[in-house]
Amino acid sequence: MKSLSLHNKQFELFISKEEISIIISKIANNINNDRIVDPLFISILNGSFLFTADLMKQIILPNTEISFVKLSSYTGTNSSGKVRDLIGIDKDISGRNVIIVEDIVDTGNTLDHIMDSLESKNVNKIYIATLLFKPNAYIKDFPIDYIGKEIPNNFVVGYGLDYDEIGRNLPCIYKLKE
Ligand code: 5GP
Repeated sequence: MKSLSLHNKQFELFISKEEISIIISKIANNINNDRIVDPLFISILNGSFLFTADLMKQIILPNTEISFVKLSSYTGTNSSGKVRDLIGIDKDISGRNVIIVEDIVDTGNTLDHIMDSLESKNVNKIYIATLLFKPNAYIKDFPIDYIGKEIPNNFVVGYGLDYDEIGRNLPCIYKLKE
């Protein structure tokens, strides 16, 4: 499908199934080559469910573990203002080598919340893997270890990414028509 409509907005094909598959093999190879010891992959739902599934099939590191988490939507307060927690990490992950699996990094604010909530867990090392990255929107300075593809600041849907909760099931990635 070259174009489609979601909630009355028009989207056009941006990244094909074939390209997604090449991108994911590249990320998997890079992670495998880094020989991360006893890796714990933490997949951030909902957007990364398809990416995580396809990525994990190509990870060949010994003792690989996968956890699926969500960022809570409530906001509390601490000295720095808004707080969001990771829901779904119910065991001790201290000393672990963690790989955060994200669908897309835009401003990096979500990543900031994730890093905040891992801070107290005393993990050994945190790596970040994202399928898509918008360098022109990124305002944080965490290094992103594994980037699938850098894209401009267009709004994209499909392959896990939604537009107001629909479109996640699309096998390719589409961008909003301008
Ligand atoms: P950030 O916090 O880095 O600005 O944005 C991260 C989150 O915003 C992503 O996990 C995703 O949920 C959403 N997001 C950012 N850009 C896009 C986009 O182009 N399309 C969709 N569907 N979601 C996006």
